[in-house]
Amino acid sequence: MSYLAPGQLKHNEPMSQHVSWRAGGIAQRFYVPLNRDDLSRFVSQETQSDFHVIGLGSNLLVRDGGLTETIIQMHGALKEIQVVEQRPNELILEVEAGVPAPKIARWVAKLGYQGGEFLAGIPGTLGGALAMNAGCYGKETWQCVESVITMDDQGSFFERNNSEYEIGYRHVALKPPVGQRTVSRLHPTQEWFIAARLKFINDPLKKGQQLIKELLARRVATQPLGQPNAGSVFRNPPGGFAAQLIEKSGLKGVREGGAEVSYKHANFIVNVGGATAADIENLIYRVQQRVWEVCGISLTPEVRIIGNRLG
Ligand SMILES: Cc1cc2nc3c(=O)[nH]c(=O)nc-3n(C[C@H](O)[C@H](O)[C@H](O)COP(=O)(O)OP(=O)(O)OC[C@H]3O[C@@H](n4cnc5c(N)ncnc54)[C@H](O)[C@@H]3O)c2cc1C
Repeated sequence: MSYLAPGQLKHNEPMSQHVSWRAGGIAQRFYVPLNRDDLSRFVSQETQSDFHVIGLGSNLLVRDGGLTETIIQMHGALKEIQVVEQRPNELILEVEAGVPAPKIARWVAKLGYQGGEFLAGIPGTLGGALAMNAGCYGKETWQCVESVITMDDQGSFFERNNSEYEIGYRHVALKPPVGQRTVSRLHPTQEWFIAARLKFINDPLKKGQQLIKELLARRVATQPLGQPNAGSVFRNPPGGFAAQLIEKSGLKGVREGGAEVSYKHANFIVNVGGATAADIENLIYRVQQRVWEVCGISLTPEVRIIGNRLG
């Protein structure tokens, strides 16, 4: 990923430099805040603008026609980690949204606590992990969350308890106010994650660092990490695995332009060189259609697709 100096507003920024697929269009306005207060000031002054917050772009497809809203990049900006409480059997950290998830995993293990190892396998920011309820190896981000600090698009901060959210598999939504029935899915112009208090428990055998090593080795063995990708493209359907269905449908190695269904992990689409966002999106739809024809199951994308199509 490339980094810009904090507090800087850039124009016509290529989003391919900020997403792990290394493809996609341009953001007309791209802002990396200096800190929380700078972000609050910036959004409160930008009365005409729509915003979209991103972290490390590891779950994001930006269409080739680019973005007219202002992109706010948390990574490289909100990067503080603080120990709030450290007791023999409990550790509470306050972590800002731009901190990479693997860094949290390393901190927790180094301090001698457990429960954060899985974060080593998620190559995004804490903010992205909160928005996606990212998880792996049986653990999900919100299982560690005590409370969060959020901000709305007027620049106001809120402190929220985890009980205020509806949490599910790759799903997070603010619960509706009492008396209202609809649950609105949290989306970036509603409230953004600024920081979270995360809780971890004692690790008497001090095996966290070893578990992280093993987890990363498993990832290297099973995922095409040498080629630009965005992790699992589809959510696993209830009781099944998207990768198995894609493989069963004979789709490994299938290509659209520079996008290919990975041979190493069928639920990954890799950029084999020069893929456009349209190549990737077309391949996503082709996979969906074929899996439906062969298996009768409708796969739902896990990756977020934003921006305008060309033309
Ligand atoms: C090799 C690889 C392996 C992966 N493995 C896993 C895995 O095992 N499990 C898993 O769950 N995911 C996995 N992913 C996907 C991805 O890393 C996660 O979804 C991650 O949490 C996304 O974080 P990010 O910072 O990159 O978010 P982005 O891709 O930048 O954004 C993703 C979404 O989150 C929103 N968002 C980002 N930051 C904030 C914020 N501060 N406040 C509100 N909304 C925000 C964005 O608007 C967007 O809608 C993998 C990806 C790769 C490339």
